[in-house]
Amino acid sequence: MDEVRLPEGPSAALQQELNKLVQGARILEIQGHGDRIFGHVALRDPDGRGFWMKRHEISLGEMYDHRDFVLVAFTGEKLAGAGRRHSEWPIHAELLLARPDLNATAHTHPFHSVIYSAVKKPLGSVSGPGKPPPRFDGTSEYIDTPELGRALAQAMGKDAKITIMRHHGVVYAGRTIEEMVMNGIDVEYRCKQMLTIGSAGDLPFEWPDADEIARKFGATANAKRAGSPTALWNYYCRVLARAEAQGDPRLSQESLL
Ligand SMILES: [Zn+2]
Repeated sequence: MDEVRLPEGPSAALQQELNKLVQGARILEIQGHGDRIFGHVALRDPDGRGFWMKRHEISLGEMYDHRDFVLVAFTGEKLAGAGRRHSEWPIHAELLLARPDLNATAHTHPFHSVIYSAVKKPLGSVSGPGKPPPRFDGTSEYIDTPELGRALAQAMGKDAKITIMRHHGVVYAGRTIEEMVMNGIDVEYRCKQMLTIGSAGDLPFEWPDADEIARKFGATANAKRAGSPTALWNYYCRVLARAEAQGDPRLSQESLL
């Protein structure tokens, strides 16, 4: 396998973060984001060299540890790691350049989100956060140039952490790995809700009131729930551990390197 070695590999602390991102990828695999060997996750390099991106040719669930990443410069050059680089690296490069607040990014093709990406109507909300994520409708083709990456980052803007990509998939991010994974799970859940509503025929359907949603999911409510992301992350880790213990075939039990 083609391998470029840095004088120094990832530090012990970085290895630990990358291992956590592997766990996040495996959680995403079993929470509706698996699409064969497609889709990828990335983490900003703490030393500013670029970002660590899942290597190509394995699925999210086949990631095993920190060795399943390649270090990619913001210009696209592979700086370290074994394995191939995904062609859609500009998604992560341009998003991380445009948004210094974000550290973890992902692009996947979850089933319901991909279908909803063909719907022009902004994503509604039955029980989740009310604000619809932006939709990138520039192209449905691969985001494999810095120009396209910049257009996608621009569609996400300065505040959003999720963007639906027309006829393609979703991109989502977080200040932390945990937040990025939760955003991915949320958008797929909401798209599934909306598609279910869309196929509910003539059932009378009502939307929650905007003020009510703001009270439930606004900044004040979020501040009160400060501890919940960790508790939720721990829950998804427990589900993952049980799936691994049961031998879920989507999850590799050893490194594929
Ligand atoms: Zn894609």
